[in-house]
Amino acid sequence: MRTPANAATRQWLVDALATLRREAARSADTHLLRIEFPGFPNIEFYFKDEAAHPTGSLKHRLARSLYLYALCNGKLSPGQPVVDASSGSTAISEAWFARMLGLQFTAVMPRATAPRKITDVEVLGGKVDLVDDPGEVYARAAWHAERGACHLDQFGQAERATDWRGNNNIAESIIGQLAAEPHPDPSWIVCGAGTGGTSATIGRYLRYRGLQTRLCVAEPEGAAFAVGWRANDRSITVDRPAVIEGIGRCRVEPGFLFEVVDEVIEVPDAASIAAMRLLEEQIGRRYGGSSGTNLVACLQLATRMRERGEEGSIVSLLCDPGERYDQTLYCPDWLRRNGLDPAPAEKALRETLRSGEWHPLD
Ligand SMILES: *Cc1c(COP(=O)(O)O)cnc(C)c1O
Repeated sequence: MRTPANAATRQWLVDALATLRREAARSADTHLLRIEFPGFPNIEFYFKDEAAHPTGSLKHRLARSLYLYALCNGKLSPGQPVVDASSGSTAISEAWFARMLGLQFTAVMPRATAPRKITDVEVLGGKVDLVDDPGEVYARAAWHAERGACHLDQFGQAERATDWRGNNNIAESIIGQLAAEPHPDPSWIVCGAGTGGTSATIGRYLRYRGLQTRLCVAEPEGAAFAVGWRANDRSITVDRPAVIEGIGRCRVEPGFLFEVVDEVIEVPDAASIAAMRLLEEQIGRRYGGSSGTNLVACLQLATRMRERGEEGSIVSLLCDPGERYDQTLYCPDWLRRNGLDPAPAEKALRETLRSGEWHPLD
């Protein structure tokens, strides 16, 4: 039987919301870094450094929103355990907020997730439930929920938990930070799609503000967003290894909004890894694979603009830090074992950076 919230429960909710508000007040916005490439003198590139969040990725925004959403919808009560399915970044952010709120958190993750992300969850006091098949995470998280846990459900809720009209969401922040730049309304914003939450927020916000900026999703070759978007079919699934964690899903997640996306560019995994290394050269800091995927798509769009003689700006995201992939994407042995050779793509991308002309990646 459903029991109405008593005064103590209501007070706990008030306190939990105050805790989240204080966390937001202590946190600063993330930097928008400008990068110049010699082949593109008339195009400004900007990368929003989402690795600068306290929990190291753009999932800090999502985790905060998911807790707020669960709390304000009355789905999370005092002492209730919390669970979610994740490829790692979200789990780290959710574990961090769980600790802050005094809640017990369990992350359901694929066994193949970068080991560093698994230990990061554990260091924050989270439990980890590993499944063999990445497609199993949803059912396993639901299993925990049936036993009383609050399922934050990033894949189901990402698109609705975020305030897409404002509240300094990622799109509002980017557009605000560009205000005094030479081309304050970017020609393109490029992002990946894991939950689809980021692309949904950006796409809606651009329309809401009446901007001409177009939205491109940068997607690992053959992954579900690309295949589903092209066929306009939400039912497709694909079977491919998750090399670039955080994006490249095997199914069309509920938060993938096809209608707000203007273009999807598919990027071979080896090219994402090559671009990730080029980012390190440009910025002097390591970022994860999905940031590399973004860079490749930015360059492809830039070569088109350059060909047409267009000027303008292109904005994308640095999604998480490279340390999380020390033992995988940044490890030469791991690359060899997984049959990945970024060298040819690196050569092609260097040519593109230098000449401004597109050099095919394979
Ligand atoms: C989640 C994630 C993305 C994609 O963001 P969504 O808003 O979930 O679509 C990209 N890169 C990394 C590292 C991520 O963890």
